[in-house]
Amino acid sequence: MSDRYVYDLAEGRADMRALLGGKGAGVAEMRRIGVPVPDGFTVTTAACVAAMERGGSWPDGLWDEVVAHLDALEGRTGRRLGARERPLLVSVRSGAVFSMPGMMDTILNLGISDDSVEGLAAEAGNARFAWDSYRRFVQMYGEVVEGVPAHAFADELDALKARRGVAQDTDLDADDLRGLVATFRAVARQHTGEDLPTDPREQLRRSVDAVFASWGNPRAAVYRKANGIPDDLGTAVNVMQMVFGNKGATSATGVCFTRNPSTGAKELYGEFLVDAQGEDVVAGIRTPRPLAEMETVLPDAFRELLATMDRLEQHYGDLQDIEFTVDDGTLYLLQTRTGKRTAQAALRVVRELVDEGVIDRDTALRRLDPAQLDQLLHPALDPGHGATPLTRGLNASPGAAVGRVVLDAETAAERGKAGEAVVLVRWETNPDDIAGVIAAQGVLTAHGGMTSHAAVVARGMGKPCVAGAGALRIDTEGRRVLVGDHVLTEDDTITLDGTTGDVYAGALPLVPPQVTDDFRAVLGWADDVRRLGVRANADTGEDAAKARELGAEGIGLCRTEHMFMAPDRLPVVREMILAEDDAARAAALDRLLPMQQADFEEIFAAMSGLPVTIRLLDPPLHEFLPDLVEQSLLVQRLEDEVGDTGAPLHGTDAVFEGWAAAAGGGETTARLARARRLLAQVRRLSETNPMLGTRGVRLALLHPQIAAMQVRAIARAALAVRAAGHDPHVEIMVPLVGFSEELRRMREVVDATMAEELAGEPLPYVVGTMIELPRAALVADRIAEHAEFFSFGTNDLTQTTLGISRDDAEGSFLTAYLEAGVVGTNPFATIDRDGVGELVHVGLERGRRARPGLHAGVCGEHGGDPASVALFDEIGLDYVSCSPYRVPIARLAAARSTL
Ligand code: PEP
Ligand code: MG
Repeated sequence: MSDRYVYDLAEGRADMRALLGGKGAGVAEMRRIGVPVPDGFTVTTAACVAAMERGGSWPDGLWDEVVAHLDALEGRTGRRLGARERPLLVSVRSGAVFSMPGMMDTILNLGISDDSVEGLAAEAGNARFAWDSYRRFVQMYGEVVEGVPAHAFADELDALKARRGVAQDTDLDADDLRGLVATFRAVARQHTGEDLPTDPREQLRRSVDAVFASWGNPRAAVYRKANGIPDDLGTAVNVMQMVFGNKGATSATGVCFTRNPSTGAKELYGEFLVDAQGEDVVAGIRTPRPLAEMETVLPDAFRELLATMDRLEQHYGDLQDIEFTVDDGTLYLLQTRTGKRTAQAALRVVRELVDEGVIDRDTALRRLDPAQLDQLLHPALDPGHGATPLTRGLNASPGAAVGRVVLDAETAAERGKAGEAVVLVRWETNPDDIAGVIAAQGVLTAHGGMTSHAAVVARGMGKPCVAGAGALRIDTEGRRVLVGDHVLTEDDTITLDGTTGDVYAGALPLVPPQVTDDFRAVLGWADDVRRLGVRANADTGEDAAKARELGAEGIGLCRTEHMFMAPDRLPVVREMILAEDDAARAAALDRLLPMQQADFEEIFAAMSGLPVTIRLLDPPLHEFLPDLVEQSLLVQRLEDEVGDTGAPLHGTDAVFEGWAAAAGGGETTARLARARRLLAQVRRLSETNPMLGTRGVRLALLHPQIAAMQVRAIARAALAVRAAGHDPHVEIMVPLVGFSEELRRMREVVDATMAEELAGEPLPYVVGTMIELPRAALVADRIAEHAEFFSFGTNDLTQTTLGISRDDAEGSFLTAYLEAGVVGTNPFATIDRDGVGELVHVGLERGRRARPGLHAGVCGEHGGDPASVALFDEIGLDYVSCSPYRVPIARLAAARSTL
């Protein structure tokens, strides 16, 4: 910690940002490289922190230091604060380490007084300007430092303009403004009960204090929370000699960017106002003029500004956002900072800066925010829409969707297929809803989190999804949705913004995805430097092709269960589940086999030459059956209709059919018998904790015929596509292994089936396992004896390590935890480094101990999260696998991790 709290501008530089704040360091750096800036000094962030720690009182010596630096500034400028002759006026501005535009306070024109206003007028030869500066000071100081409500001053100003019959502030003359100063002072006295201090040094002390305090104002606190800025950094305070853009026609103030921050194009971009001070541009009192017009109004200053913009961009090697003032023909820069920009602009800017030789490729990659690429890969809301959201949920899958509200998957599938744009709105989706999800433009759920079914499926398909919008009340019976007092019916159109989580009533305008040349070029640079491989999670040929287009180097996870959910498959899958003997089950599996084979053929063909990891069936069987409660209700309804409750509760098909025949054999009775039969099976298969139940390898060992069917389909598909000239790279993956013996036994089934199918035909394939249970990570060495590769399933591994349900937590306590800061980040979105990350590390090490060089990746949702990708690279995994649309993000994140 430094032993001083105040630095002259001449002592600062760009790398002192933590101490001097962004603005202080930026202005000092500009001065250092010879860009014209006003003189001044900076009170450090450490001073603000020290004052915060002392409950607002200043640390010893701080005021003396400020006074000493003020004295020195007066010496350098030959001017004095508040003096009648050659008065010094200063601005007092906040300046945090991370820019928080407009969130904290600023006081301009400090040092003006009844004495110095005369001197200022004489010097400028412009009494109006001097009195305008004075009234601005009283107004700003009164508001910011003494807490007088803004409207109290604005009302007086409006009243005066009305009396004078003028519309613009600039139409008031010096005498009007002189009167206004007196009025403003009286207004302040009314509100504070005392006169404003007249000693400018006392005003300075109070102003610095007010800027410190503005770090803690509610809007700054909200901004910090939204942008992940720590609360304990404090702000610096910059005290700089005033330069005046309001001295008449030879003066101006403005803001500009060195390139267009929307498109990235190298062109003039900015606005200015003649005869104005900075806040006039921002406040929208007068309409600023496009920067290009400055060329005719103030040609010399304009030329100098262009040269300075160029210089600053070269110096920082990045797009700059600049504030400037022209004081009676002389240009001053007041601030320069890295300009915020769209994803499209970010790519174009770095690409062109590399082409221009300003930065190298590594620097370019470091500049980019991988998460921002998401903006480009989905249709997005037109940024200028200006609408207010109806409600908000989690931004579960990015992009925007517009469509009519539909409350059930079947209708969504029907209307969607018929070409209507629909949005599926559900309490929560389940695998049964898949057809509706596919046919919908987007998905909105009232319940569930970032890894809920709806979220994962939607992301996988690149479909916008807002999940867990808790304010939605879905009235399925009334076929409507309530959001507060707003009622949406199935005829209403809504717009989802999956990038932000906002939900809007009506149809808002969209802009299409933008995979541009810049995108391709910059991601090519990323591929040149990254070590980590990037694969995709894809379940269809179409997704596989999309993933390949986006740069995937194979499929790291093909979830086969989704294939069983298609409307033509589900009845056969149910038959298979309900089969009463091996023969009936085998018959159902025989019917599924060619369908499954066709699925794999498409995928192998799309990924020819690249590895494809196919996971054997994972979810518990009841997921393919109707919901227990819904089925019970159906049975009840049918019972009411039939008026007979004597149907059997258990038994074989024959028992139920026998009852139906005996009960009269009507259609409804037959339906009741079937519904009862299904209900019995749903009951039999239902588990209290299905995610910890009969799923994954457990299910496969219980019903090896299912796995065998899948392996057969894989073998036949591989042979078929190879015969057609493709090059399939087959990887078979076993889910939810916890004991090495499970994998050993499963391998026997897989290898035996493969041998049978291939009948001597050479087809290389490997068998590996998911590591998604803590035990599996801990005994990874033993498991590796039977596994040729590992794929860490960090979704289940997070769920089982933390003991937090991936489907329920985010709507409830985890959200509260995140808000209260009990946990810093959502562990289902960004890997829990210390817990789950450590298990991945241990699992990899132990696995490789038993099998050196064991190939290993991650296929949980974390594979597309930049912070998690960095950890996986660090640990030494071979690849990550993520949704196709996150592949570019992972490519960039993997590259950045090596820099
Ligand atoms: C996982 O658990 O991380 C995984 C990829 O499998 P799933 O999400 O299908 O359970
Ligand atoms: Mg899993």
